[in-house]
Amino acid sequence: MRKLRKFWETKTGTRLSKTVVNSIWVAFLKTEAAEFTKQMGYGPKEIHKIGIRKFVDANGWFLTQHVSRWRTDAWRVVVCPECGKDFGILSDDMGLCPKCLPRFDLNKYFGEIHKIVDEDKPELMGAAIGKAMVVFMGDPETRARYRKIS
Ligand SMILES: [Zn+2]
Repeated sequence: MRKLRKFWETKTGTRLSKTVVNSIWVAFLKTEAAEFTKQMGYGPKEIHKIGIRKFVDANGWFLTQHVSRWRTDAWRVVVCPECGKDFGILSDDMGLCPKCLPRFDLNKYFGEIHKIVDEDKPELMGAAIGKAMVVFMGDPETRARYRKIS
């Protein structure tokens, strides 16, 4: 998310106006929302609860024609599994929002996954990481084990 926010900030130099955010949201509802909900497992209802601006920012959108980019983007913007109050990037940060991310030791988590996967079978790593993401997102007990003590 950090780099995405930076991405649009460098393009626009400013915070998006309410009018722009609203027009992007309307475009999203009109052309993308149905398919997005089906594929991502959350939709307008959840997004409304968290905040439309947060959603638009997390996706790095600043023009109405950007709303279809989620279909091809390498990252997936998801609801933060920890707080449910913001969005995070699944592939980079296990879906943790910027506020929750520093509370976890993801290096330890990834380190342990690497240890589990047989060094002679590197082709299994992608699947292992995919599974690790699903577990981390869906299981609070697993997440709790990687919470930093502060
Ligand atoms: Zn969070």
